[in-house]
Amino acid sequence: MDIINFFKNDPNIFLMLVAALSLLVGSFLNVVIYRLPRMIEFEWSQECREYLGLKKTDEDPKPINLSLPFSHCPHCQKTLKPWHNIPLISYLVLRGKCAYCSGKISLRYPLVEALSLIASVYVATHFGVSWQTVGALLFTWILIALTFIDLDYHLLPDHLTFLLTGLGLFLSLFYLYTTPQDAIVGMITGYLIFALTQAAFKLVTGKVGMGQGDYKFLAALGAFLGWQMLPIIILLASISGIIIGVTHMIIKHQFKSVPLPFGPYLAVAGWISLIWGHEILHLYLHTMHLS
Ligand SMILES: [Zn+2]
Repeated sequence: MDIINFFKNDPNIFLMLVAALSLLVGSFLNVVIYRLPRMIEFEWSQECREYLGLKKTDEDPKPINLSLPFSHCPHCQKTLKPWHNIPLISYLVLRGKCAYCSGKISLRYPLVEALSLIASVYVATHFGVSWQTVGALLFTWILIALTFIDLDYHLLPDHLTFLLTGLGLFLSLFYLYTTPQDAIVGMITGYLIFALTQAAFKLVTGKVGMGQGDYKFLAALGAFLGWQMLPIIILLASISGIIIGVTHMIIKHQFKSVPLPFGPYLAVAGWISLIWGHEILHLYLHTMHLS
C-alpha cells in the first residue's frame, strides 16, 4: 500500500509526524546555516593556498563538515546533550542560557526552529496528505537555509540552489507543481532574466546590483514552480525589497545605497507563489479580462 494512502486514513497522525519532523529538521537547518558557509570558506582558502603553493601550517583553519565536530556551546565548548539539539525546547527550558556555563544562547536558533515548525505545519495543512506536501516541505526547508545564510554572509551557496533546481526538475516529472516543459523553461528564463537585467544595469550604472547566486536562485524557483510563476516571484520580491529597504533607510538614517541581500525576498516570494501562486495568477488574469 502507498504510504500516502496509509496516512489518508488518519490525517492528524500525518500532521503530528510533520510537526515532529520539522523540529528535527529545524535543528539540522541551524547546523547547515552555521556550518555550510564556513565549509565553503574553508574550501576557498584551501584552493587559494594550493593555487599560491603555500605550505601547510598548524595555524591553518581546521576542516569542518555538517556532522563533525558535534554541536557545542560557543562559550565553554562543551558538547551538547541530544535534547539540547531541539533549540525550541531547550531554549525555553534553559531560558536562553547554556546548561553548563550559563552563557547566552542566540535567539536565532529557536527562531529558525519555530519558523520551520510553523511553515511546515502550514504546508501540510494546505496541501493535505499528498506527495505535494512532501515536495513542498523540502522546498520550504531549503528556502529557510538559503534565507539565513544570505542574511549572514550575502551568499547563496550552489550546494543549496543546485539542490533546489535538481529537486524541482525531478518533481516536475510527476507533475506535482508544474510540467517538465514549464520547469525547464522556468529554469532557463529565471536565470536569464536576472543575468540580462544585471548586464544592462552594469552597462548603465557601472555597478553590480545582483550576484550570480540570485540568478541561480531564481532559476531554481523557475524549475520548481514553472515559468508562469516568475513574474509573480519577481514582483513580490521587488515590492517587499523596496518596502523593507526604505524602512531600513528611515530607521537607520542611512540614505546611501547599502548592499542588502536579495535572497530572503526571493525566498519569501517563492514560498508565497508555491502556496497561493495559482490563485494570484488567476486573480490577475481575471482582473485583466474584466478591464
Ligand atoms: Zn556553555
